[in-house]
Amino acid sequence: MIKTVPVSLNRTIDDSYEISIGAGIFSEKVQGVFSTLKPTRVAIVTDTHLYKIYRDTLNVTFGNDARIIVYPAGESKKNFRTINGMFGELQEAGLDRKSCIVAFGGGVTGDMAGFLAGIFLRGVRFIQVPTSLLAMVDSSTGGKTGVDTPGGKNLMGVFHQPKSVIIDTDFLRTLPKRELINGMAEVVKHGIIADRDYFTLVEKKRTKIKKLDPDTMIEVISGSCRIKSAVVSADEKEAGLRQTLNFGHTIGHAVEAASDFKIPHGYAVAIGMAAEAYISQKRGYLSGKEFERITRVLKAYGLLKYAALSDKLDAGRIIHASARDKKNVASNVRFVVIPEIGKVREENGVYSFDMKEGELLDALQKVKEF
Ligand code: ADP
Ligand code: ZN
Repeated sequence: MIKTVPVSLNRTIDDSYEISIGAGIFSEKVQGVFSTLKPTRVAIVTDTHLYKIYRDTLNVTFGNDARIIVYPAGESKKNFRTINGMFGELQEAGLDRKSCIVAFGGGVTGDMAGFLAGIFLRGVRFIQVPTSLLAMVDSSTGGKTGVDTPGGKNLMGVFHQPKSVIIDTDFLRTLPKRELINGMAEVVKHGIIADRDYFTLVEKKRTKIKKLDPDTMIEVISGSCRIKSAVVSADEKEAGLRQTLNFGHTIGHAVEAASDFKIPHGYAVAIGMAAEAYISQKRGYLSGKEFERITRVLKAYGLLKYAALSDKLDAGRIIHASARDKKNVASNVRFVVIPEIGKVREENGVYSFDMKEGELLDALQKVKEF
């Protein structure tokens, strides 16, 4: 005998939230968000590096009752072992289902704190306070959280949206220059895939950006958040449009892996963008003029400084790494094609296309020239 019992779970969830961007807004915004969320307890996740700089700021803003969980800075700690340790600290601090977790730091902190919030007691609320440019313009929006495993980066994780994102551009003042440049890669990417005017802004305001002029930074960061959130709202779970955010990442991830992660993410993605734009040009979609404009901006921000190094990378390893990338369906290497700055190629709702091994090798050869 067989019986079936239907379990109907057709629900509508509103996970909407706001991203606030400003200079010096941190403490006041946190108070505002907490007066709405009314958390029973608060735990802040941050790394050793940030804790050293912002310990007092955190204590003043969150008070003595909040638990600060500090992990050793660096991507190598983004694993389940660290999460397990943090989990114990949450329990020890007495967090319950009505509590709130705060991610205070770069992308690694956001990924881990978000993951922790997603699995603790089957999910508690969390807010993102990104402090690196990369986290401000990219990883804090979209709800992807997770950790690395021996099999690869970000392979273990959940989608868990924050209740609020607070971006205070003042934090950028302590960010090492290299990390600032690293974040600029995703900024340039957003212009290339979605918004020609935004690309032009980034192209023109280089001096002000490098000086961290507050209004310019607010404009740049809010522009990136707007572009990314529009994409994520249309396609949260990456069925189609969200793939366009992977522009430059097929080759970028592979270059990153082949360098044993010595080339930082943004710099690797910049190499990937130059290479993938080159393939777009070779296929006859992107004009030579547009291709040059893209590489000129990447170079102007110092993002192609490791490009010559891709000479030393093993092409075989790059091909192997790109085929293993989890974004690739059935191990075909796929990438986003750019027909002009501000647009992506789309065919019947599909935004990524097969890349041939020859094209990849050819593009890597070209990128070495930069
Ligand atoms: P991501 O580049 O994805 O943001 P991390 O979270 O590892 O990755 O951040 C990169 C590095 O920058 C870390 O060492 C982190 O401690 C440091 N960092 C992040 N934000 C700041 C800041 N505002 N001031 C100083 N250092 C920062
Ligand atoms: Zn990226």
